[in-house]
Amino acid sequence: MIRNSNFSSKKPILYLVATPIGNLKELSTRTLDVLKEVDYIFCEDTRVSSKLVNLCGVKKRFISCHEHNEAMATKEAIRLLKEGYKVAYMSDAGMPCISDPGYILVRECLINEINVSPISGPNAALNALIASGLPTDHFYFHGFLNAKDSVKKEELRKLYKRQETLIFYESPHRIDKTLKCMHEIFGSRKACIAREISKIHEEFIRGNLEEFLTLDKETLKGEMVIVVEGNDEEITAMPEEKEIVNLIRNFTNMGMSTKDAIKKASDLLNLPKNKVYSIYHGN
Ligand code: SAM
Repeated sequence: MIRNSNFSSKKPILYLVATPIGNLKELSTRTLDVLKEVDYIFCEDTRVSSKLVNLCGVKKRFISCHEHNEAMATKEAIRLLKEGYKVAYMSDAGMPCISDPGYILVRECLINEINVSPISGPNAALNALIASGLPTDHFYFHGFLNAKDSVKKEELRKLYKRQETLIFYESPHRIDKTLKCMHEIFGSRKACIAREISKIHEEFIRGNLEEFLTLDKETLKGEMVIVVEGNDEEITAMPEEKEIVNLIRNFTNMGMSTKDAIKKASDLLNLPKNKVYSIYHGN
């Protein structure tokens, strides 16, 4: 166990700086103070971050640290921090490490006895969640699904039983197919698309996954978060025993082994495998 008291320790400190996801006014005065104070800023794209930091009237040295060079950049950051320089890391938008680089940097800093402090700020997932109208008490953040539909559906199937509200990131190029896959796996659960949060075209589309199939994809531009209701056991009606048996028979008729058919049926119906097993075998 290691206890790190960030501001009363003499250890070097890496600042993880969250940046605006839309509106530049999301930059807090604390963020500005930290940006003024540090010597080096590691960032995903030096052009994006230097533009933002220059707007704050601050001139800094920028070093690129993105998903393809994070390990190398991390070594450089650790060297500078150990030499006594002040270092911050920021991604292009939102919080570092959240569907963005930063985790390797944080992990290695901690191994090297460098403290890590978050400079809190915007994040697309949490902003989408709180305004979605879906339950916020428990939630699961997934980030981006795989681009390939077959893998995407498998990922969604694994999430089928989760009762927490589910949060996904998606790009406008894939939103159409992703909504279709979600409907196929989750049915017509309640959902919300949070688009262009804190920008001029901010929009929240609240409804259900079935209704979302009718959306004109030309109107789904920009950055988006999809928030989906978790599995509500109470609305998932227990099917009749003969329906369960018929489902398993359909699978075995298609060439599946009885064992696999029982597993597939229990996954699809969100029922414990041993329960489906005993219904099928009549005990
Ligand atoms: N690190 C960021 C964060 O803390 O939210 C996320 C970065 S991830 C590479 C980019 C994705 O976040 C986008 O594809 C979109 O799904 C979501 N996103 C970012 N900005 C957004 C915004 N203003 N409105 C809606 N979604 C946004």
